[in-house]
Amino acid sequence: MKKIGILGAGQLGRMLALAGYPLELDFFFYDTTGTPSVGLGNVSSDTSANLENPDLQTFIDSVDVVSYEFEHLPLQLAQHIEQKNTLHPSSRSLDVCQDRAKEKALFDRLGIPTPSYRVIDTEQGLIKAVEELGLPVVVKTTTEGYDGKGQFVIRQLEQCQEAWHTIGSRTLIVEAFVNFTRELSIIAVRATDDNIEVYPLAENQHNDGILRYSTAPAPRVDDETASQARSYAKELIHELDHVGILTLELFETEKGLVANEMAPRVHNSGHWSIEGAPCSQFENHLRAITGLPLGCTQASRPTCMINIIGEKGDIQSLLELPYAHVHLYAKEERPGRKLGHVTVQADSYEELVWRVNNVASLLPGSPEFGGYSTP
Ligand code: AMP
Repeated sequence: MKKIGILGAGQLGRMLALAGYPLELDFFFYDTTGTPSVGLGNVSSDTSANLENPDLQTFIDSVDVVSYEFEHLPLQLAQHIEQKNTLHPSSRSLDVCQDRAKEKALFDRLGIPTPSYRVIDTEQGLIKAVEELGLPVVVKTTTEGYDGKGQFVIRQLEQCQEAWHTIGSRTLIVEAFVNFTRELSIIAVRATDDNIEVYPLAENQHNDGILRYSTAPAPRVDDETASQARSYAKELIHELDHVGILTLELFETEKGLVANEMAPRVHNSGHWSIEGAPCSQFENHLRAITGLPLGCTQASRPTCMINIIGEKGDIQSLLELPYAHVHLYAKEERPGRKLGHVTVQADSYEELVWRVNNVASLLPGSPEFGGYSTP
């Protein structure tokens, strides 16, 4: 039985394990946050991420390969593990994907369109960047931002001071505001022999910076857009020599696709694949890092994933819906927290919208589902 070590111990680790047990894989988690929620496998926790911790050595020695489900990890931890065991994806993917400035530099180098940007570390630098890029701009922390945290939209020059003091005086990235028609993401998986498979584009609806609905295949995607997205994902995963899943978030604009950011891991916008594809993103990640053949990434039919955020809602009634697949993450309710998701499939997008609205009506606080009116 192969033993898999995972850095991070949240719901993504949980779903990796659930996909891995049928392949006779066993799971060991190493948490650096102090709040592991994975609820299965063998879990050790060390918030100091001390490289001398004997538990870390035991973790490294217990497993055949190490991976990660969380990118806000100390880079030194990944580099330390890499010297003692196999780490997939490598620390290079982690290094690039945990820093928006490095991500953008890679997009630029590969000719992948991304919003114009400046990296700044003073308030004067912020004002200069705004003058150069034009308003509005989105200001983001270069590291540790997720789910829209650590961001500020500046619409008037006078807001620079407020933005600088709100986000915290540190290195920031200032991006031109993109008038996108919708948000999309694409997930690729790469094996050690450079074989690459790509899932269809997903259409993502965010509210208050948090993903709420993700539909795959994204409806109304023309062939050129689909092949452009596939080639960006393939170029990135190949260039990073990345083994496992890589997710690329994109904006669709009237002038084509624009890259927003990447995640070197399984992603919330790929949860649809558990029911919606022959081989889920979780299973494909495990296949890639253990040297097994990659699985089929095609979507069987229109599928939508609805996140359960903050409150669990009427689970009883959700379970009574014949088309709803409920996934709960064994986490306590807290505002804004991802507690689970529901997957719904249908034979047409019209039917899917109807089913998604039924599910959302049983989840308190769910924002209205925008459907598929765009672009
Ligand atoms: P991020 O953390 O970069 O994924 O940003 C969170 C959300 O903010 C995105 O999903 C978009 O809805 C929005 N956003 C981020 N960057 C931009 C941008 N340059 N222009 C317009 N909206 C943005």
